[in-house]
Amino acid sequence: MSSFDVVIIGSGPGGYVAAIRCAQLGMKTAIIEKYSSLGGTCLNVGCIPSKALLASSHHYQELQHFADHGIEVSGDVKVNLEKMIARKQAVVDQTSGGVKYLMDKNKVEVFEGIGSFESATTVKVTKNDGSSEVIESKNIIIATGSKPSSLPFIKLDKERVITSTEALKLPEVPKHLVIIGGGVIGIELGQVYLRLGAKVSVVEYMDRIIPGMDASLSKELTKVLKKQGMKFYTSHKVKSVERAGDVVTVEAENTKGEVVSLEGDYSLVSVGRRPYTDGLNADNAGVKLTDRGQVEVNNHLQTSVSNIYAIGDVVRGAMLAHKAEEEGVLVAEILAGQKPHIDYNLIPGVVYTWPEVAAVGQTEEQLKESGVAYKSGSFPFKALGRARAGGDTDGFVKILADAKTDEVLGVHMIGARCADLIAEAVVAMEFRASAEDISRMSHAHPTFAEAIKEAAMAATDNRPLHV
Ligand code: FAD
Repeated sequence: MSSFDVVIIGSGPGGYVAAIRCAQLGMKTAIIEKYSSLGGTCLNVGCIPSKALLASSHHYQELQHFADHGIEVSGDVKVNLEKMIARKQAVVDQTSGGVKYLMDKNKVEVFEGIGSFESATTVKVTKNDGSSEVIESKNIIIATGSKPSSLPFIKLDKERVITSTEALKLPEVPKHLVIIGGGVIGIELGQVYLRLGAKVSVVEYMDRIIPGMDASLSKELTKVLKKQGMKFYTSHKVKSVERAGDVVTVEAENTKGEVVSLEGDYSLVSVGRRPYTDGLNADNAGVKLTDRGQVEVNNHLQTSVSNIYAIGDVVRGAMLAHKAEEEGVLVAEILAGQKPHIDYNLIPGVVYTWPEVAAVGQTEEQLKESGVAYKSGSFPFKALGRARAGGDTDGFVKILADAKTDEVLGVHMIGARCADLIAEAVVAMEFRASAEDISRMSHAHPTFAEAIKEAAMAATDNRPLHV
């Protein structure tokens, strides 16, 4: 029987990063993945393919602004969806190949098959051809991720009533895509097809889209997306989803009991994701799950069994690739006897629409609810030279700082390149910077990052320079 210091089940950003760090720290490491392509949800059917399609559709949308820039395009410009999706797949294949390279480079042994516990120290790997082998390990990390969830009355046929996985490889641009759930995944994929020419309607149970983020970001994103043509039905509860041939009818009821019936040719169900432990046989090892199906862990990501850890989407907290990665590193370092730490308050959240939406720390709603006295400073991108030069003037940066100490408590932004700009806010908050600290740092001109400095100036003595 092969024997290891650590075996990781699942090769998503949590699992493969944990494997690399364990190997770097001198552990004999193996990783088990049931699919032939490494990288998990993120690389195969999540972050990377969705960003590839967002990039392609963004290029297409940009064409509409070429004339403003004095660029004349003659002849037809058409979308070749098949080619766009093939390009996306090439990006995925290359990235997954990169993970395989990293496993080989770090001498991590890769087992292809379904990993299931035999005991707290042995895992059976069942391969596609039905054959199996049992491997043994001192420590085991569960990194089995998540799968799309649905509503009990919805029949997902994966053809017309689809999840994000199918939305990444549609055979045609929908005429009318009805999206159930206005969270990050629904809105990002909605914008892809909106740009490609689909009518897109979003039905959301809460009173606003991207409900987990600061309300000011939801408001601005809704405004911009409405301008682009997206339709919203917020505070609407979906009652039924019926398919007849190529027509999908979604019925939803608002808070006054009025029913709206939306007829589309595709409906994307993006109501969240559920932790995935099917086939893991966690019971055989004595690993406890929570009522919500997550693997139960303590602050060190240790399960109810002391040599078994769990990370990423399968445990509590934000379902984000970079959160899973941090947890992978943390567990590897704990196993090596180190004392790592993650500040979960400083895990940024990003929506990769254009304009991009990004945030870190506390929202205004959270600060109000916890009774923290705070001050707020905002700066609009339209007042920024670089934004005007590029023609990307939608959005703003908002900084929330402690009313007494001036420590930055939250940074919320929507606008061009915010997915990258948020890193400045994370660094500042990691070092417990005050808004005044940020306002005193030189930011290159002209850049989008100047909006952060100006928002910090607005938060301290209301002294922005350019509004
Ligand atoms: P996963 O990536 O889900 O990987 C788990 C792996 O375990 C899978 O490969 C699975 O096959 C394998 N596995 C499961 N059970 C077994 C078993 N018993 N034996 C062997 N293998 C097993 N996050 C971001 O941060 N940024 C984004 O832009 C972003 N975009 C997204 C877009 C979409 C459309 C979706 C669906 C998700 C997106 N996410 C994004 C979320 C991100 O993909 C997840 O948070 C991340 O993949 C979680 O990583 P993980 O390692 O916990 O699990």
